[in-house]
Amino acid sequence: MAITEESATAFHERLMDEHSAHNYHPLPVVVAHAQGSWVTDVEGDRYLDCLAGYSALNFGHGHPALLAAAHAQLDRVTLTSRAFGSDRIGPFCAGLATLLGKEMVLPMNTGAEAVESGIKVARKWGYEVKGVPEDRARIVVADGGFHGRTTTIVGFSTDPDARGGFGPFTPGFDVVPYGDAEALRAAITPDTVAVLIEPVQGEAGVVVPPPGYLAAVREVCTAHRVLFVADEVQSGLGRTGHVLATRAAGVDADVYLLGKALGGGIMALSAVVADRDVLGVLRPGQHGSTFGGNPLACAVGLAVLDLLADTGPDGMPARATARGAELHARLGELVGHGVTAVRGVGLWAGVDVDPRIGTGRAVSEALARRGVLVKDTHGATIRFSPPLVITSEEVRVAVDALRDVLSPA
Ligand SMILES: *Cc1c(COP(=O)(O)O)cnc(C)c1O
Repeated sequence: MAITEESATAFHERLMDEHSAHNYHPLPVVVAHAQGSWVTDVEGDRYLDCLAGYSALNFGHGHPALLAAAHAQLDRVTLTSRAFGSDRIGPFCAGLATLLGKEMVLPMNTGAEAVESGIKVARKWGYEVKGVPEDRARIVVADGGFHGRTTTIVGFSTDPDARGGFGPFTPGFDVVPYGDAEALRAAITPDTVAVLIEPVQGEAGVVVPPPGYLAAVREVCTAHRVLFVADEVQSGLGRTGHVLATRAAGVDADVYLLGKALGGGIMALSAVVADRDVLGVLRPGQHGSTFGGNPLACAVGLAVLDLLADTGPDGMPARATARGAELHARLGELVGHGVTAVRGVGLWAGVDVDPRIGTGRAVSEALARRGVLVKDTHGATIRFSPPLVITSEEVRVAVDALRDVLSPA
């Protein structure tokens, strides 16, 4: 394997440390090519990608249909700005609205922008539709949540690393424990306009809420005329075996926030999806984005929607269900053998490493030396979120590598 301590250090000094900000602590792998579930480094070594760009690469690297859509659009038109129309934005918004059973789509670029846009829409809806007095709107969020990195968003984060040193913060957010419907109910005031949560908390370590929680959130929101805003930036678009994690729980949110996989791992493409009575509060000049809804991103997004529309046994959601069952069965065998807990749903798992064996970081590095890429989160947890195109055999390879790391011969 190419990853020795020496080459890792040399890599950081040569390629990263000198000129790029140190806001990440990457594993020492320098990727030069990627295809499907595999990446190849500059030295020609191959790795099974079990992170998939934090789920931005749900359909794998270089999916042929997505690449074809991007290549074709590159030769036609890539950017118009929203000062003019394009022949891609309409079909993309219509397709996404139809897939989610909603009426309107606001296209943006990054996940954080979708969240920011959702916050703005919820506040404006609160003032114009619900009748909340000016500048009084409140939004309930959950502790341990992750919604992006803007100043407003980190202001309601409960992760000291995410928020420390970045204040002063935007007011108007109330934090409640995740998974506790009664605490959420108690936090609602007449000025509450929205509840903003992840249906499954990704960055927290793939935390699945207790059964009935999402339905209870829906019930509280309906009873108090509050918008249920589901941040499905990471949980959405196939990862859980469904197009939406919320829907898998039989629940329909008022506002869906999508990102990551929406751009197929090719473009930054995010969206706010809701009915007209909500998204219709935005009128010309009140919100915007130079790149949001650009024709290249929309062309790729349309191809993503085609992949998601395949509900057959070979479709992306079905693959997540099938490979996910295999992944969870195999990971489950490791509980008590270097693993203290496994959480997750679909092709998505948070694995807590027994601290006597090592940190999540140390295990991630050891896995990389065995040709499997994952990423640690919150010290003791590693996350598996491989591309949905991973094969059964590759799932076995990944978990066998973890078993080897946890129980060295
Ligand atoms: C990644 C993520 C975001 C932020 O997306 P960016 O594209 O990194 O801005 C927001 N919400 C959730 C749930 C995420 O996982």
